[in-house]
Amino acid sequence: MTELTLFNSLTRQLEPFRPIHDGEARVYSCGPTVYNYPHIGNMRAYVFADLLGRTLSWRGYRLTHVINITDVGHLTDDADAGEDKMERMAAARAQSIWDIARHYTEAYWADIRALNIREPAHWSIATDYIDAMIDFAASIEAKHCYRLKGGLYFDVSTVADYGRLARAHTEEGEGRIEAVAGKRNAADFAIWRTTPAGETRQMEWDSPWGRGAPGWHLECSVMSGKLLGFPFDIHTGGIDHREIHHPNEIAQNQAFCGCGSLTDPVNSGARMWLHNNFLVERGGKMSKSAGEFLRVPLLVERGYHPLAYRLMCLQAHYRSELEFSWEALGAALTRLKRLVMAIAALQERAPDAGWAAWTRAAAQAQDWGKLQPAMDRFDAALADDLGTPVALTALEEVLATKKVDPALKLAAATAMDGVLGLDLGRLTRADLRLRPSSAAIGEDEITALLGQRREARAAKDFAASDALRDRLTEAGVEAMDGDPLGWEWRL
Ligand code: AMP
Ligand code: ZN
Repeated sequence: MTELTLFNSLTRQLEPFRPIHDGEARVYSCGPTVYNYPHIGNMRAYVFADLLGRTLSWRGYRLTHVINITDVGHLTDDADAGEDKMERMAAARAQSIWDIARHYTEAYWADIRALNIREPAHWSIATDYIDAMIDFAASIEAKHCYRLKGGLYFDVSTVADYGRLARAHTEEGEGRIEAVAGKRNAADFAIWRTTPAGETRQMEWDSPWGRGAPGWHLECSVMSGKLLGFPFDIHTGGIDHREIHHPNEIAQNQAFCGCGSLTDPVNSGARMWLHNNFLVERGGKMSKSAGEFLRVPLLVERGYHPLAYRLMCLQAHYRSELEFSWEALGAALTRLKRLVMAIAALQERAPDAGWAAWTRAAAQAQDWGKLQPAMDRFDAALADDLGTPVALTALEEVLATKKVDPALKLAAATAMDGVLGLDLGRLTRADLRLRPSSAAIGEDEITALLGQRREARAAKDFAASDALRDRLTEAGVEAMDGDPLGWEWRL
């Protein structure tokens, strides 16, 4: 296998992955703030984290992956200003925060399943760790924090190299942050926010700094350290976190561990910091403040299988910006159909062993014979900072290689899909044909009309055949004669 190299945002370099604990990989991914539904851009971050986890598993590391659920503390401004996103949504909906959190966590998990993202070892829920957060804050208070009316603040000048991850100097933080009277440095941030006198929050806890709630950055430091131990291997998040959230986590980790300069990345609490670039959309459909925004269930409503979106993500490198369009999603769906049909054709020709057997064969295979060059290309592509665009072409190369035992091809494809996560063994053509919820005609009816049309054509009754076609067209169904993918209709 080619050595795995990953782009470390902290050093801005490609670096070999060297596990801190032999044979293990410990990964923490910043999870969603559950005040609203995730948009598909948010889900790109978890497709990426899942790809990383699957790649590490495939290379034989025992993976411990943690994704947190932020149900308290994330303000409307990432830095240190604004209102708590959860409190604000709860007030707007006149619902309890706990109900809001439960509802949106469930919705997030449904998207996770739809995109075939593997469950992490731990879903850590921020409000389960309040005591640990208070202990953490208390342990760094004397050397690194000061009190203001609003709570306990972290003094960023007390740690070495603050802001290195963002490549920003602390002074540049001026103006970015709503002025808080008494702050020593513009970039200082609250690690505990005390509830103002005379107010109550739905979510608040007693602490040495008064009744209040933890800061968002504190949560991730505490949960990652508790569940993975400092230092751990890899911390992930979207590229926006490189600016504020992760530099603040790093500062807290340095304080907690008594670590010095970030010239040695491991002093940051994790050896590598990986960030996925954004999914962008020109029409503003990704903004959660817009009425209808792009969510996984919306793709399904429009007739696109969620795994077409996963494939769309994998077609781009995770560090490249990716532009969303329905045309691009449609193209990814067609590509996914071709993959699924190639696998189905192989399954017909191979002895009836089933996907589980191919998976076992894949795990045991030593010699890929004629498929070896494609396997090597796949491995090298992923080893090169998770190069999925090339890895996908290596999968297609396997499927296109002629004169190879279908069972061997299936074993190779399963091995590859273990990393790509397109669920190729389970998906069928029929799964990929979703009916947009706006369609006025049912699948049974379409099949019946198409059947009658076939009979009419066989009887050379072209008038009847055309009439049936017109009926289908009126219902928004296009009959697809001679479609290269063998599809009979589309809506
Ligand atoms: P949030 O729930 O806002 O904390 O975001 C969850 C995750 O999604 C974080 O890792 C963000 O960095 C990431 N993220 C937010 N917007 C996008 C986007 N448009 N494309 C990719 N990732 C994003
Ligand atoms: Zn985080």
